[in-house]
Amino acid sequence: MQKQDVFADYREITETAEISVKMHGGRAKCLQRLIRLGLPVPKTLALSFPTVHAIAEGHLADTERMMAAFGEVPLVSVRPSSEDPDWGGPGAILNIGMNDARHAFLAETIGERAANALYLRFIQAYAIHVARLDPDMFEAEDLTDAAALRRALSDYEDETDETFPQDPARQLSEVLRSMARAWEGTTARLLRQARGAPADAGLGLVVQEMALGLGQPESGSGVIQFVDGKTGEKLIKGRYLSQSQSRDALAGQKEAIFLTRDPRGPSLEELCPEQFAALLEYGARCRTRLREEMQIEFTIDSGALSIIDAVRIPRNSRAEVRIAVDLAKDGIISREEALMRVEPRSLSELLHRQVDPDAPRDTLVEGIAASPGAARGVVVFSSAAAQARAAQGEACVLVRRETTPDDIRGMHAASAVLTERGGVTSHAAVIARGLGVPCIVGASGMTLSRKANQFTCPDGRIVREGDMVTVDGSSGAVLAGETPLVEAGLDDAFQTLLGWADEVRDIKVRANADTPADARTAERFKADGIGLCRTEHMFFEGDRLTVMREMIFADHTQDRQAALDQLLPMQRADFIALFEIMQGRPVCIRLFDPPLHEFLPNDREGLRELAEALDLPLSDVNRRVEALSEFNPMLGMRGVRLGVTIPEIYEMQARAIFEATIEASRKGDPVVPEIMIPLVSAKREVELVKTRIDAVAAAVRTETGVDFTYRLGVMVETPRAALRAGDIAAHCSFLSFGTNDLTQMTYGLSRDDAGRFMSQYVQQEVFPEDPFHILDAEGVGELLTIGSERGRAANPQVTLSICGEHGGNPESIAFCRTAGFHYVSCSPFRVPVARLSAAQYALRDAAAETP
Ligand code: PEP
Ligand code: MG
Repeated sequence: MQKQDVFADYREITETAEISVKMHGGRAKCLQRLIRLGLPVPKTLALSFPTVHAIAEGHLADTERMMAAFGEVPLVSVRPSSEDPDWGGPGAILNIGMNDARHAFLAETIGERAANALYLRFIQAYAIHVARLDPDMFEAEDLTDAAALRRALSDYEDETDETFPQDPARQLSEVLRSMARAWEGTTARLLRQARGAPADAGLGLVVQEMALGLGQPESGSGVIQFVDGKTGEKLIKGRYLSQSQSRDALAGQKEAIFLTRDPRGPSLEELCPEQFAALLEYGARCRTRLREEMQIEFTIDSGALSIIDAVRIPRNSRAEVRIAVDLAKDGIISREEALMRVEPRSLSELLHRQVDPDAPRDTLVEGIAASPGAARGVVVFSSAAAQARAAQGEACVLVRRETTPDDIRGMHAASAVLTERGGVTSHAAVIARGLGVPCIVGASGMTLSRKANQFTCPDGRIVREGDMVTVDGSSGAVLAGETPLVEAGLDDAFQTLLGWADEVRDIKVRANADTPADARTAERFKADGIGLCRTEHMFFEGDRLTVMREMIFADHTQDRQAALDQLLPMQRADFIALFEIMQGRPVCIRLFDPPLHEFLPNDREGLRELAEALDLPLSDVNRRVEALSEFNPMLGMRGVRLGVTIPEIYEMQARAIFEATIEASRKGDPVVPEIMIPLVSAKREVELVKTRIDAVAAAVRTETGVDFTYRLGVMVETPRAALRAGDIAAHCSFLSFGTNDLTQMTYGLSRDDAGRFMSQYVQQEVFPEDPFHILDAEGVGELLTIGSERGRAANPQVTLSICGEHGGNPESIAFCRTAGFHYVSCSPFRVPVARLSAAQYALRDAAAETP
């Protein structure tokens, strides 16, 4: 039952009318801006959010008066105007006011066929969206056909038992009511909430005088934009279609013509040169005055040009960066504004190939998106198979239950990695991110059979060795077959924007880089140095793993020393390469932190190979592996515990670092290496290691006659180290928070296994996010605050940083800036995101301080 009160809360959009995005929506506000720019926008009324809400509730709007504003024989359109265009809304309805009388009049003035089309279009829209009749019934091959029009009128009457409404005010009233109700419906609400709209988001409506686009002389409609929404490059794009309305020209009809002169066919530039020139001028006016690249909807009505609507050009991240940079270069927006316009996380889309967003997706299984980017390849189930495929130039996706150091070569060879187990800081995830290889971990929905070399998807489909899949490491989905990809977009606009970011940010961004290849990536992304070189990763490659295993297996000091003597030159060469690539920028080398089990083979084949390599009986190898095996290796003989109990290893590493320092300083910029001790929990550990490293430094100075300095630091990754940071900081020059282990130990949550239940925990809101992914500012963050405050109190010069995987996240950067940290360190591929994000926080703070 409609309530009988009539009200008239609407206003005409004029240059001075009070129209706001919050009350009338983005479209109404944009139309006002276009009017202020002097563009020929037809007369438009705006209905506010409360008005539309009241209409949905059953109140009647004074549509008599509204229609009267458009003259004696009004013809109007209604379009939605929500606060954010991305929240959607009901579709536009055109030609309201068409009735028998208007049809007869228009048949005289613009021709019968054009009049038929106008009337039939309106009947179709009204029948489907207002009277909610079956769309199929109102389909018509030829809209200009008089018989089709008659049929539609009689079908309407048959279905509704009333003649098609003839009163324009009633037509408008019904249209407004149906659009208002559509917005309040549950499906529409859920849909917009999924796009980020608040539950009570309002809808405004705009009622606009129709520019017909049908009839003679030249009439039609089109859409024009001045940059490409995929690249941001300047170019005129769009189509024009004679005898059409709204966005018909983009519907793929072959009669739609080009806008600019084109050898392939006729163009608007030739057909209507004056109107085309005016459009170019309007586009330029919008760009400079609205400070945005707009897509403009226009109509030519008997030769007269009208601007119906304009929206921000829909664009991907690559285009977003270029548009912002070009606007700033042209002085239309400031550099600061350009920096603020780009969402930092969206940059990672530009660093890697991505699945084409327009491509159809056939999802096989989903897991945790552990390393972004997309790649296609045939499925393989072992590293050996990955290497074999790669040797033949065939792209492959390595699928493993989880990865170990034995898989490093396979990971290098593969185009993407998929594991059944693991979380965002598991071995596969960390290595893949460093390599820039797309990776999905914790895909627990699949059942892997190593024996049968296949995995079964949750829907029962079986993927066998050799089957083609696409890994979307950005979304965590494995897709069937060869899904189309789009290339990475590291162009000059990207570099320019990040250059501007560097000028304003006030926290350094280093990279976690283990190998010269990583360091080159870090350098390409202009990291301020290396914040974490995990030296054990240097031994995952090539023949080094065997020497490393010999060292681990050594029963006697001489055997161990022999292995270390082989490792020393390898390490030295690696460090020289890192120092040279980083050209004087700081390089922080972490001493060995191997959970020893990661270096041991875990199957019979591996054990046999190791026995062969070490020339030992298999039984000896088995015995030694058993002796070394721990119930809980991640809390076992790791990090500094190894340094205290088997000091020769750290001594070898310190020597390699110092000798490389001398060598690299001779060739280039002087190097001051940073040496970091992992997994510390007590001050005494630091004292013991420091004494030995100082002794090695003294020995190298004496042997070479060359002086050098170095900085010693501690990795704070046990809760105790954070609490006792005061004791520890007194003995070192920097503290770097390893938030992967710190999160693991603070929560008592295994970083390798938590993936199994993490999604449930997040769904049930036990944790707001996976704490291995987004820094837990409350708990782990409190330890960071305590650690940094106590460290700084004991040693005001101490350098503070974070180097866990959280380092590159915007949330962590905000936290670290507030806590007064000097730098964050993250995977090389996250460096650009971190640089932009750091700049945005600095700009926000500066803006807040400006009175
Ligand atoms: C950490 O624990 O946060 C860290 C950076 O070290 P890793 O991931 O090598 O344990
Ligand atoms: Mg750690």
